[in-house]
Amino acid sequence: MKTPFLVIGGGLSGIAAAIRAARFTSDVLLVEKHSRIGGLNSYFYRNSVLYETGLHAITNYAEPKEKRAPLNRLLRQLKIRRRNLSFCQQYQSEVVFTGGETIQFSNDFTLFESDVCNTFPKSADKFCSLVTFLEDFDPFLPSPFRSARKFLNGFLGDTVLTDMILCPLMFYGSSHEQDMDLNQFAIMFRAIFLEGMFRPEGTIKDFLDLLLTHYEQLGGTLRKSCGVRKILHNNGDVKGVELHNGEFIECDNILSTVGHLETLKLLSPESQVIPHEKTRLGFVETIYRLKNTKELNIQQNKTIIFYSQGNAFNYQKPVDYVDFSSGVICFPSHFQGLAPQDHIEIRSTHLANYDKWASLYQKPDKYTQQKETTSQLSSQQLTNLIGSFRANIVYENTFTPITIERYTSKIEGAIYGSPAKIPDGDIGFSNLFLAGTDQGFLGIIGSMLSGVSIVNQHVLPKL
Ligand SMILES: Cc1cc2nc3c(=O)[nH]c(=O)nc-3n(C[C@H](O)[C@H](O)[C@H](O)COP(=O)(O)OP(=O)(O)OC[C@H]3O[C@@H](n4cnc5c(N)ncnc54)[C@H](O)[C@@H]3O)c2cc1C
Repeated sequence: MKTPFLVIGGGLSGIAAAIRAARFTSDVLLVEKHSRIGGLNSYFYRNSVLYETGLHAITNYAEPKEKRAPLNRLLRQLKIRRRNLSFCQQYQSEVVFTGGETIQFSNDFTLFESDVCNTFPKSADKFCSLVTFLEDFDPFLPSPFRSARKFLNGFLGDTVLTDMILCPLMFYGSSHEQDMDLNQFAIMFRAIFLEGMFRPEGTIKDFLDLLLTHYEQLGGTLRKSCGVRKILHNNGDVKGVELHNGEFIECDNILSTVGHLETLKLLSPESQVIPHEKTRLGFVETIYRLKNTKELNIQQNKTIIFYSQGNAFNYQKPVDYVDFSSGVICFPSHFQGLAPQDHIEIRSTHLANYDKWASLYQKPDKYTQQKETTSQLSSQQLTNLIGSFRANIVYENTFTPITIERYTSKIEGAIYGSPAKIPDGDIGFSNLFLAGTDQGFLGIIGSMLSGVSIVNQHVLPKL
């Protein structure tokens, strides 16, 4: 078989890249290792109930009239009509430091601004200057790593405020321990605080189905359960791929969305690819499905809570299986316009230690037991912040860095990939490029824009 353009990986960056290319040629083949597309943002069924994996909220909300906003630019590039999608905005989210302060935010930036200024009056002017500075800052100019934490501490002069601002941004997109790159910070500040969060009406499956139908209508081809085992290359040119089933596909151009190290592994499956960075950050997430009764006393207007115990935020690989001292609590049904349901979900996310979980992998009983312990301990932490809900649980399930590794092939289950990003997607081949998490754009909108921009830059000129 021969194809002019092959996309490896049916996550959101791969799907977006394939759609963008299919607008110009129907000779596009998207291959996905699993039986389902979506990658980190997918779904599974238990007892006929659909559970989403990954999706808390989509960042970068924009009204249709804001033509230059990333969300609207993305839809235009993919030629998806906004009226075919219905977007539900968040109610209100918050950053809670249990040592004292809480800052609330919504898709109306003035709430965040006034909360910061009222809670940190001494830093109010400096915070307003920060916002002005970020409005003019170009985060896409190539530059070496600059510490956002150092920059903010210098700018704001208050380490607690710095940590409260960094907490959601690092949880939703930092592959660095205790810090993030200044460029990445500027992108995430805009995506989460200035623009805000939403989710599509319906489930992630509906969203993925819409993308897939659009791709297939443009003439593109998807092959599921179709893992690439090896990328064949010679003198800096790739020739094609060998699949796990032994089949060979000859290709003129390949876009890999599986990660940088993961792509190097496909280029030389025989040699051991060792992460050059010290730490790849892993997470656990527990989904609680609850019977929605009168006794359940959970505030309906909170969408996401980012918390940290005490007065600082510690973002690093924990020594133990899980670090419960900080986390994210998400209520997927608490978005505007969603009708009340007889069951609701809560999702909790914490930093996790890949090596500890990997050490249990050969001992299935202990692995399962540790997942149950995690679910219980996480719910205890959550109870302190949102009230008791254990009595209402009808289903609970925890995924670990091992689950992520198994389902997306991300080395060490690192959701945000390698700390070293490759903004131009060039990994030293004339016809193999990288998009997705390791290109540097994170989250759903970021990864989709990454797929689109690398296709625009490297692939369309050759088609
Ligand atoms: C718990 C969690 C919560 C999240 N919450 C949010 C959120 O609320 N909002 C948000 O915007 N983002 C969120 N994200 C992040 C978001 O899901 C990711 O940034 C984005 O989906 C990454 O997409 P990707 O296409 O780059 O990578 P992936 O989703 O990892 O896609 C890569 C694909 O490649 C496939 N693949 C791997 N190896 C091969 C191979 N050899 N052959 C063929 N296929 C292969 C994998 O199976 C996978 O489908 C969350 C992620 C997680 C895990």
